[in-house]
Amino acid sequence: MKIRSCEFMISAVSRNQYPTNEIPEIALAGRSNVGKSSLINMLLNRKKLARTSSTPGKTQTINFYMINNEFHFVDLPGYGYAKVSKKSKEEWGKIIETYLTTRERLVEVIQLIDIRHKPTVQDVQMYNWIRHFGFKGIVVATKLDKIKRSQRQKQIRLIRKTLEMNKEDILIPVSSINREGKERLWEVIGNTFIQ
Ligand code: GDP
Repeated sequence: MKIRSCEFMISAVSRNQYPTNEIPEIALAGRSNVGKSSLINMLLNRKKLARTSSTPGKTQTINFYMINNEFHFVDLPGYGYAKVSKKSKEEWGKIIETYLTTRERLVEVIQLIDIRHKPTVQDVQMYNWIRHFGFKGIVVATKLDKIKRSQRQKQIRLIRKTLEMNKEDILIPVSSINREGKERLWEVIGNTFIQ
């Protein structure tokens, strides 16, 4: 994918702030600190378009980015941060559910999982949610550079098994540091607009 332009649009707190144009969207979901901002920056060849978080779990906003004036990336609020209150966990649930169920131009959801760890209960719930709302789901295993090459297949198998993924379900290991996996991920994202 050639990135001709990209810009931050809005950090939306409520539904009436979502962009109202008809442009198709790809959303990204994952635990706080999984590497979501880093992935967005890496995909768009920008250093700081998406903010990498030093205080994980703080933001409960949905951030919209416009790419090539053709589609949006939608950065969903991260989950799984231990220190947040029950109330803000509930809020998080409402924000995500509202978004996933009401957004007609949402074409696919990318779920990020840290390749070093077994997916958590919340990761599994998020993945099931994505499928429940009718998306295929694209799993991106982040921080590929942090494990030895010899560990890759084992970790990929663990993620696929824990999420109960089928053979045809897509998992792409990616590193935002050395950009491994970038081309493949763009190819898969591109295909979602064609189907
Ligand atoms: P977010 O909370 O999901 O947006 O996560 P961030 O993008 O802020 O990343 C969390 C931390 O992981 C930061 O310190 C990043 O530098 C680091 N990180 C993110 N992606 C990678 C990666 O692919 N490789 C390595 N080694 N570190 C990463």
